[in-house]
Amino acid sequence: MCGIVGYVGRSEAAPILLDGLRRLEYRGYDSAGVAIVDGDKVETRKCAGRIAELGKLMAERPPTGTFGISHTRWATHGKPTDQNAHPHFDATGRLALVHNGVIENYQALKDQLIRDGDRNFSSDTDTEVLAHLIGKLYDASMAVDPGSNGKTKASLPNKKGRLVEAVRTALRQVIGTYGIALVHQDIPDFIVGARRGSPLVLGVGKDENFLASDVSAIVAYTRDAVYLNDFDVVAVERDKFEISSVAGEAGNYQLSKVEFTDADIKKGDYPYYMLKEIFEQPGSVRDAMRGRLSHEECTAKLGGLNMSPAQLRDVGRVVLTGCGTALHAAMIGEYLIEQLAQIPTEVEYASEFRHRNTPMTRDTLVLAISQSGETADTLGALRESRRKGYRTLGICNNVASTIARESDGGVYMHAGPEIGVAATKSFTSQVAILTAIGLLLGRMRHLSTSEGTRIIDALEALPDQIEQVLKLSDQMKAIARKYASVNGMLFFGRQFNFPIALEAALKMKEITYLFAEGHPSAELKHGIIALVRPDLPSVFITPDDAVFSKNLNNIEQVRARKGPVIAITSGTGADRLAKIADDIVTIPAVPDYVSPILTVIPLQLLAYHLAVELGRDVDKPRNLAKSVTVE
Ligand code: GLU
Repeated sequence: MCGIVGYVGRSEAAPILLDGLRRLEYRGYDSAGVAIVDGDKVETRKCAGRIAELGKLMAERPPTGTFGISHTRWATHGKPTDQNAHPHFDATGRLALVHNGVIENYQALKDQLIRDGDRNFSSDTDTEVLAHLIGKLYDASMAVDPGSNGKTKASLPNKKGRLVEAVRTALRQVIGTYGIALVHQDIPDFIVGARRGSPLVLGVGKDENFLASDVSAIVAYTRDAVYLNDFDVVAVERDKFEISSVAGEAGNYQLSKVEFTDADIKKGDYPYYMLKEIFEQPGSVRDAMRGRLSHEECTAKLGGLNMSPAQLRDVGRVVLTGCGTALHAAMIGEYLIEQLAQIPTEVEYASEFRHRNTPMTRDTLVLAISQSGETADTLGALRESRRKGYRTLGICNNVASTIARESDGGVYMHAGPEIGVAATKSFTSQVAILTAIGLLLGRMRHLSTSEGTRIIDALEALPDQIEQVLKLSDQMKAIARKYASVNGMLFFGRQFNFPIALEAALKMKEITYLFAEGHPSAELKHGIIALVRPDLPSVFITPDDAVFSKNLNNIEQVRARKGPVIAITSGTGADRLAKIADDIVTIPAVPDYVSPILTVIPLQLLAYHLAVELGRDVDKPRNLAKSVTVE
């Protein structure tokens, strides 16, 4: 997801807009820009590259003015060039607009504008078309009063109302997703924002107001926020704001207090957010479980699900859906819910689920998993499920997110802001929550009190065990150095740790850009073994569990073909691996169903250290963006 920041107040807008962009930079960063209005002139600075480049441009020629908008882009339409960077202007150059999302019918709208004589396009983006359309509608409404025989209206006072109306009219023609903010040089101290599909939040200050695609951009200035809903249009002034809908109805809104402070989104002494977040996992897993485990009833207490005992008991099928790392958590969830509760469970890529006709029973429960709660594909799957009348739950980190608000209930991760693009702490929190859900559903069925207690004990022991695993960071760094010149890595695991092989490979791809694949260990001999060679290490995730000896067979197969082996193991595993693995990493022995929460951590560290070794920008990996709000 890219970022939007808007400011209207009494301070200089430029530093606030730039500072907000820096805080959002992890979300998309191929180009950036600002538009600030001073008097009756709109000044823009924009360029391809990181926010630092924009900062230099702004330092050379500082734009002045007390209201404006800014943007960091994650290109969907048109290359990341200076020309395609936002803000984009209307045909007259008086209206500037920034946009997150995709205008799907931009070509049809553009063709129509061209037919109407507008040829003044200067970018390849879908966004510019929207700027032109709004500008055209606004100018038309200013030029002519349809109700008074063509008398000019330019002198009439309500420019603000007309701009808002032009935005509404344009958005009614748009197919796609948008979070937008715009300013017009003829209308002082006034910003219009609107959203559909891409998040937008209004920050309410004293004699100043803000707009942002994520509250972290503005939390340094205010913690009072209004999370806008889809189809909201907001007119923002210094000392007031008005929310209405695209259809023109008065909007409802709620003022909320932002949960975290500016300090929570600082890197502290860590070189990268990703490392900070890896090291936060003892606390984030503890917070995911806090107040949610009952020793008395030997079960999990998840009031946010909004389901009665009878409803929980009657769940006949579970569909887990998500994308990327959240999908891997879902895959572990499938093993967990089937093992602990014996309920048939399916995992669906959110992007596929939405567009296919998955057979669903009436008693199916749909669980949508998304750290940000804004992932467009996951939101689409959730909406489709709701449309069909299924009960939907969300597992999200962002409390005010769209998925959290649109589902029937859910469980918040309470993991604190996750800034690193490569998800780490959100993954372990998701898996911990899915374990709690498995426990709860299991205890509504056949799980005994003693089994319930065992699971609770295992979950409660995790934070201290994670602390121990984090001590392996130096060992993982040494392994990363040893293999720094390899061409890629293969990852293998079985059962609960098969999805960890996928997740470890994803981390490796995301931040080192090395080729990496994850597979169930036994699949090796069905094809992947053809890849094995001395410069392609295989990582086996093989805790001392029921399938350990099966993994040993697969490791032997790799050894026989001169493939280096790194093993993540536990218990007595190290002794049995001593002769056949090149590197052995030992984690605490735990029951199989909680082991993924521990096994993933050395692999997060391996990807991290290897990326650093290779000189990658860990928090801002190539081509990626945090929280993907486009489909
Ligand atoms: N679709 C727009 C573009 O490509 C906005 C992309 C974004 O969300 O940053 O410019």
